[in-house]
Amino acid sequence: MNKKTFTLGIFGGGQLGKFLVQSAKKLNIRTFVFTDSVDSPAIYYCDDFIISSYENKKKLDFFIKNIDLATFEFENIPFKTLDYVEKKINVSPKPTIIKILQDRLKEKTFLNSIGIKTTEFYYLKKVDKKKISNNFFPALVKTIRLGYDGKGQVFFKNKKHFLKHSFKNKEYIIEKLINFKKEISVVISRYKEKSVSFDAFENLHKHQILQKSHAPANISPKLNNQAKEIAKKIADKLNYTGTMCVEFFVTKKNELLVNEIAPRVHNSGHLTMNAHNVSQFENHIRAVCNLKLKKPKRIHKAIMYNILGNDIKKYRSKETATKEFFYDYGKKEIKNKRKMGHLTKIF
Ligand code: AMP
Repeated sequence: MNKKTFTLGIFGGGQLGKFLVQSAKKLNIRTFVFTDSVDSPAIYYCDDFIISSYENKKKLDFFIKNIDLATFEFENIPFKTLDYVEKKINVSPKPTIIKILQDRLKEKTFLNSIGIKTTEFYYLKKVDKKKISNNFFPALVKTIRLGYDGKGQVFFKNKKHFLKHSFKNKEYIIEKLINFKKEISVVISRYKEKSVSFDAFENLHKHQILQKSHAPANISPKLNNQAKEIAKKIADKLNYTGTMCVEFFVTKKNELLVNEIAPRVHNSGHLTMNAHNVSQFENHIRAVCNLKLKKPKRIHKAIMYNILGNDIKKYRSKETATKEFFYDYGKKEIKNKRKMGHLTKIF
């Protein structure tokens, strides 16, 4: 192992890790991936990797010894792991930020405390279920931790239905279902008080999983600027370093509600690889590795389709048209609804 060269450690080895590693390579930065899964697309592209549980101290110590700083591609890396690493080496973004954003209750409470609107919600442990008004429904119950792509979410059409349900010991919030006009996201990169962001992307979800994203979003310049301002406010308040994504609901009254913050590069930003002068991945690497951020400029209109589960087989044997870019994540196991690849079309 050649530790003389500056080496960036990355926790997580999924497709986001793979694209980060490729961007680092472009910038002549060595990468060392730490993943807990053998089926990790990033390990084929990085300079070194470890496959181990995130709790294995011996492996973590070896990792720390062989990297100059660490980042991650997945926010559910255990806080304890990131905190352990942070005591010995710089981790960007900071693990304390992850502690807030790994927890839907802490995340929404933080957002509301800085004057940013979210959906209405209750913490189920602290509320008398019977007192929730009928008008609050339909609603979604979400686990506080480890829920993504619709995992850990239950839909309740009405209060009767909700009161009948028995919840296990996990912690939950209940959130009012929004009859939104559309969903958008802003990807922002920040380094040392300076930040740059992409104009909003417009996103369509199916069964709570992102189906497609397009740029530019079909919204007014005013709403686009508002969304970018909110993303900046969040990044500044968190004193964030790196790339993050803020997902919004646009209500029928053109109000912006923050649904979620992803403290990492994001699926809706995949199209930046083909449609912009700089990708969300490159700006993440730039931010965490102390390089100057590039101001994003869109060169093409673009649409990105996620390829889930068995659909990947069709795409693997299909020709791609001019101005189409097909990405196969190379995951070994095809699972229903698993993100296996994506296709970006530019216009
Ligand atoms: P989440 O896991 O919270 O990011 O939710 C994934 C997707 O589910 C969102 O992007 C929405 O399409 C949908 N969703 C989640 N929460 C709500 C809500 N309160 N009202 C309407 N749709 C929602």
